[in-house]
Amino acid sequence: MKILAVLYKGGKAAVEEPRLLGTLENRLGLSDWLQSLGHEFIVTDDKEGPESVFQKELPDTDILITTPFHPGYLTGDLIRNKAHKLKLAVTAGVGSDHVDLNAANEKKIIVAEVTGSNVVSVAEHVVMDILALVRNLIPAHEMIERGDWVVADIARNAFDLEGKVVGTLGCGRIGFRVLKRLTGFDCKELLYYDYAPLPAAAEKEIGARRVEDLHEFLGQCDIITINAPLHEGTRGLVNKELLQHVKKGAWIVNTARGAICDRIAIKEALESGHINGYAGDVWDVQPAPKDHPWRTMKNPLGGGNGMTPHYSGTTLDAQKRYADGTRDILERFFKGEDQIPANVIVADGGYATKAYGQRK
Ligand code: NAD
Repeated sequence: MKILAVLYKGGKAAVEEPRLLGTLENRLGLSDWLQSLGHEFIVTDDKEGPESVFQKELPDTDILITTPFHPGYLTGDLIRNKAHKLKLAVTAGVGSDHVDLNAANEKKIIVAEVTGSNVVSVAEHVVMDILALVRNLIPAHEMIERGDWVVADIARNAFDLEGKVVGTLGCGRIGFRVLKRLTGFDCKELLYYDYAPLPAAAEKEIGARRVEDLHEFLGQCDIITINAPLHEGTRGLVNKELLQHVKKGAWIVNTARGAICDRIAIKEALESGHINGYAGDVWDVQPAPKDHPWRTMKNPLGGGNGMTPHYSGTTLDAQKRYADGTRDILERFFKGEDQIPANVIVADGGYATKAYGQRK
């Protein structure tokens, strides 16, 4: 079979650090194994436009492997007009929105991801981002690097997490783990908004309360963390209109997908001071263009921006888990065995998961 992988370039770092498995150079650690089975394995980071290696190799590819960190966007057009032989699209990681899932269903392509592989990695990152924003860490560090020392300029916008209301929009594997990690901070309340309620025992374990109306949920949160997949029901959800329901001075952390938030609406809300901070590692296009407003936007006090490149789910620990998980998905596919059910996003022309929106 022909297997094509789109992975980010590791360069010198990947040569020096072989545990950077999810890179162009280290090929998810799959090269020798796939070759020993007689498969052709092509790996590229060249993914944009009709002349890219990705699009040129796609027509006779049987299995595509992509990651959310450097997404090879498998659009409806590519699925319908170029991916003639594609049977399986694997996401080495979590989050398969870079594949047009409805088009995959039309063509009965299986889409599978390594569910759970980096959920702890992301949950830890969210807690870090919340603390960085609420405590005003980044401007404080920048001040030190500049050689300045004006404590009041930082302290005027630094708060404790204790006593705040934190809510997660989407409370699946990551959202739940974020709230669980926050139980030690004596927050005023932990809330969640999700069409799928947590099991009663899980809700009780972390002392979380479900709020069924999105506007009410937003109006109650001091800190909002977004942990829902990107799908038709969440694309552009956090727009100018919705932001009006967010408490003035709230902080937003989005490590789910950039396109859940409207680029300009977020920038304007931060610059006007309506929200006090925005952090996360996901962007509406990746890599983010150099002039993307989220790189440099600031609140009126010159802080409130905790954006990073997309790396929360690609720690070295996570890379090992999603490389192993990708191999397991391939192994099962080659042997004609069933996939682990939680890993299957779409198969046999339909959604196998309830996480990508409410459908009939
Ligand atoms: P999950 O499937 O366990 O949970 C997702 C939850 O979101 C589900 O409970 C679902 O019901 C809920 N949901 C879906 N649509 C919703 C909506 N419109 N409103 C409210 N809730 C909604 O998934 P997970 O493992 O927790 O991952 C969540 C997302 O995080 C992934 O889909 C991916 O986009 C993102 N992610 C990012 C990184 C990263 O490196 N930044 C890594 C892993 C996952």
